[in-house]
Amino acid sequence: RDPNVKKPGWLRQKAPQGEKYEEVKESLSRLKLNTVCEEAQCPNIGECWNGGGDGIATATIMVLGDTCTRGCRFCAVKTSRNPAPPDPMEPYNTAEAVASWGVDYIVLTSVDRDDLPDGGSGHFAETVKAMKILKSDIMVECLTSDFRGDLKAVSTLVHSGLDVFAHNIETVKRLQRIVRDPRAGYEQSLSVLKHAKLSKEGMITKSSIMLGLGETDDELKEAMADLRAIDVDILTNDLSDTPFRLSTYYIHYEFCIAIISVRDCEVSESLKCLLHCILPSRSRYPEKFAFWKDYGESIGFRYVASGPLVRSSYRAGELFVKTMVK
Ligand code: SF4
Ligand code: SF4
Repeated sequence: RDPNVKKPGWLRQKAPQGEKYEEVKESLSRLKLNTVCEEAQCPNIGECWNGGGDGIATATIMVLGDTCTRGCRFCAVKTSRNPAPPDPMEPYNTAEAVASWGVDYIVLTSVDRDDLPDGGSGHFAETVKAMKILKSDIMVECLTSDFRGDLKAVSTLVHSGLDVFAHNIETVKRLQRIVRDPRAGYEQSLSVLKHAKLSKEGMITKSSIMLGLGETDDELKEAMADLRAIDVDILTNDLSDTPFRLSTYYIHYEFCIAIISVRDCEVSESLKCLLHCILPSRSRYPEKFAFWKDYGESIGFRYVASGPLVRSSYRAGELFVKTMVK
């Protein structure tokens, strides 16, 4: 992106500050704990760590390493067929660090580990259990892979003591093969979410859809209806900040300038080709996100967070509490 191109106001975030933010930041560096919030330079860090209006501080931690066995086209995570084995002490070290940390709500996420027999669900579950033992009032959301559709792996995690089971369908049905790794799939993701919901009474489930990939309004309505049909409770809609996703936005918003922004992005030639193939088909203005929030809640989602800077884990603690009181 051309640095001289000024972002519109709704894509800018204030520099993070605030008492709780400072407290979380200080304890983080003391504990040497890595968060996705910092690693990904997430623009929502001030809001999440301060806990928004409800004072429920949220942070996201990645387990199972930093190398994924898949290669989704919108994602910048490192990939390999054989990543390093998981650190067996990670669940306990993570729990210890979280217990002495000033956050109320943890989102645990991971890369996909198709190389592990259970897709990493046992390791994930062990981390949740260890956290709950050391800090019983911590709320935990797991943002998981699809475990290749292995429903036993899903059950292992659901019964770990987590509070929210999250898995993203990412995009509408038509665009799955273009946007996600071929091993992922729309029906597979729906079956994972459905199984999580049915495996435990009262299980809260959550999913996310990226906007701006060329989907039509009807396709988006269909995806939202499919999520509601399996009783997914919470939905987040976002535009994210990988070069791919931001460039998509710029193409639409700034038209000609967008072409320059794509050229300036450090993305591969194939990705640039892909970008031109799936140009967004409609406007990406804030009103559109507001529309999808209202629409989603009108068809039964208990809570919808919808905005260009929203992430799957955006103010997740607050969303969870709001969902529970609805
Ligand atoms: Fe990125 Fe997740 Fe896809 Fe892996 S599975 S490439 S971490 S989006
Ligand atoms: Fe961290 Fe997620 Fe909030 Fe970003 S949106 S600051 S990754 S909890």
